[in-house]
Amino acid sequence: MSIPSGHGLVRVVLPVPLRREFDYLCPLPLPEPGCRVWVPFGNRKLVALVVGHPSDPDIDTAKIKPVECRIDAAPVLGPAELRLLNWAARYYLHPPGEVYFQALPTLLRKGEAAAYRRLEYWHRLASDRAPPAQAIRQRQALELLANGPMTQGELAARGIAGTVLANLAKNALAEKREHLPEPRDWRSPPPGPQEERPRLTTEQALAVSLVQQASGFSPFLLEGITGSGKTEVYLQAMEPVLASGRQVLVMVPEIGLTPQTIARFQRRFGLPICTLHSALSERERLDAWLSCRDGSAAIVIGTRSALLTPFQWLGLIIIDEEHDASFKQQDGFRYHARDLALLRARQQDIPILLGSATPSFESLHNAASGKYRLLTLSQRPAGATTAEHRLLDSKHVQLQAGLSPQLLALMEQELAGGNQVMLFLNRRGYAPVLLCHDCGWLADCERCDAHYTWHKSRQRLHCHHCDHQRPLPPACPQCGGNQLLGTGLGTEQVEQALTGLFPQYSTIRIDRDNTRRKGSFEQHLDGIRAGKYQILIGTQMLAKGHHFPDVTLVAMLDVDGALFAGDFRATERFAQLYIQVAGRAGRASKPGRVILQTHHPDHALLQDLANQGYHHFAHTALAERRRAGLPPFSFQALFRCQAPQQAACQAFLQHLTQQLHPQLPAAVLCLGPFSAQMERKAGQYRYQLLLQSDQRRELALACRRALAIIDTLPAARKVRWSLDMDPQEL
Ligand code: ADP
Ligand code: ZN
Ligand code: ZN
Repeated sequence: MSIPSGHGLVRVVLPVPLRREFDYLCPLPLPEPGCRVWVPFGNRKLVALVVGHPSDPDIDTAKIKPVECRIDAAPVLGPAELRLLNWAARYYLHPPGEVYFQALPTLLRKGEAAAYRRLEYWHRLASDRAPPAQAIRQRQALELLANGPMTQGELAARGIAGTVLANLAKNALAEKREHLPEPRDWRSPPPGPQEERPRLTTEQALAVSLVQQASGFSPFLLEGITGSGKTEVYLQAMEPVLASGRQVLVMVPEIGLTPQTIARFQRRFGLPICTLHSALSERERLDAWLSCRDGSAAIVIGTRSALLTPFQWLGLIIIDEEHDASFKQQDGFRYHARDLALLRARQQDIPILLGSATPSFESLHNAASGKYRLLTLSQRPAGATTAEHRLLDSKHVQLQAGLSPQLLALMEQELAGGNQVMLFLNRRGYAPVLLCHDCGWLADCERCDAHYTWHKSRQRLHCHHCDHQRPLPPACPQCGGNQLLGTGLGTEQVEQALTGLFPQYSTIRIDRDNTRRKGSFEQHLDGIRAGKYQILIGTQMLAKGHHFPDVTLVAMLDVDGALFAGDFRATERFAQLYIQVAGRAGRASKPGRVILQTHHPDHALLQDLANQGYHHFAHTALAERRRAGLPPFSFQALFRCQAPQQAACQAFLQHLTQQLHPQLPAAVLCLGPFSAQMERKAGQYRYQLLLQSDQRRELALACRRALAIIDTLPAARKVRWSLDMDPQEL
């Protein structure tokens, strides 16, 4: 049978975990690539995305089914995005449908129209009254609304809660009106900065001018110590791009998308900004996505997935904290947004600026080999000081809640001087282990190879790996004894101890446990800035990117575990965290001190970091990676599998290894199978097989062969497996 007249073929991708595309019949004129259609698939009806118009079908014409109906009159994804996604599907060897659908907001995946919702906007009302001085949030909200109406979602992203708006409405200071968003033409007249900019340091000026002069694809790595003014470089590098009417994409880590960040870009340019992150509702996400796509957003600030968004006039990509692990997706389509951003910049022939105080080894290597141009900020702008680093030996000293007498004395001194001190401990809860003093019983999670963390205030045991929780047992379930003791330190315990040791100062803890309520994190940060608290205790949440000018002492507790942790990236991650935390000290005019309390003060890595800084450390560590043939001097691909039965995992990977070995290209090493670092998690056994090569092509070839073998393996049906290209965690 041939194709009926008046019809043609469309090739589509479907949201199914199959490594292929599908062909359907469709009446002429055919929908363009990037349009969605409804198609029959098995006994279901699915949304499909057209990716091409094949001349010959990939199956017997007699079996080809017709498209059911069209959804879009015009493509939702343009040629640039289709090209990027096509490349990504091939590179990551991931089912193409899952890759393409990742780039669509959920509502579009469900077949909804690609159109804005009628929105409710908050408007400021002309009024000669103002909220009372202590109503800080109400005042902030009115300030924001002075630039034009905003949706509740946009306001929420800037830290304004619904109750604040309700109060404004009650006092007739603002009101809510419904209308379609008015596309604002921000491109004419050409926009420019709206506030006074600081005079750049020589290093900043050089960096800005090099980025501004770049034309076409040019990757830059901006390595600047914390507080050296990287954001100022971003802001000024953006000016000519925006002035020429092109959009800028600013990517930030999950944790970095704070109201302060957005406000800084808002103040500087006064242009429409859209934010894309995981906390948006489906509808908000679609609207934000549409405003990138139609060009009505000048600046787009987003987390990982923002990279896959279509842009009308993309002119520059900036990736802040480019080393951050959150840029790599850890499930499903495991792409690295930084790596794909580089590809996107190349495909669209635009500059890209990666910035960090602690660049990833991959990026440092690319800078050293001349692939990226390295821009360095080694100084803080005049007025700011840098911190002194000290290693405190905690061997043989009596610790109180993990704090040595020396550290306590230093804290006392700073606090007495009216300063704030920050203690960093990357473990929430009261104690990471609960044990019975009588018989040695340990509270272990039944579903993981892990201990429960004891949360004393909530009277619960909580597994941080599978999220399982249970009440604290009243007595030892093994011997009935009632001496249950916590061992090890968590933030809750340090908080409790410090409240007792320094009753005259107020203490605040910042971790995921006490910031769950919406807006509470912001509230705590405001409180810290306003000087309400003197002692700050927190996990990474507190360490990342926040500026507290009155913090003069930063101490890291109990980090020794991180020094000896499993995979080869552990030291890189530790160093990044250390510098990040250390960067909280002495950012403003006050000198700062960084204390690392350790049982291993002579550890070469610690010495190197504390005395020579990250750049030096990184180059020493890179030389080691080169000798060991590890990434970035080689490339890796990891096959992971999991199943409730250990034997199923082992059988799957053993069969795979056996069949793969004779077909393995010479340049590819096959390592394993071995168990994951935590062999059992949430009731699943986890095993993996690592392929490694210094040649990408050969590695990809080996992976394709492995995938072909897996397709034929009956053992593959008894496990859940996945392929992770460039894995960040082994
Ligand atoms: P980074 O992003 O590198 O941590 P920021 O860009 O946030 O640093 O700058 C740190 C602080 O220094 C900010 O308060 C910023 O306003 C200020 N700053 C940046 N550049 C200059 C400059 N050239 N002169 C004076 N202050 C500056
Ligand atoms: Zn017991
Ligand atoms: Zn668990």
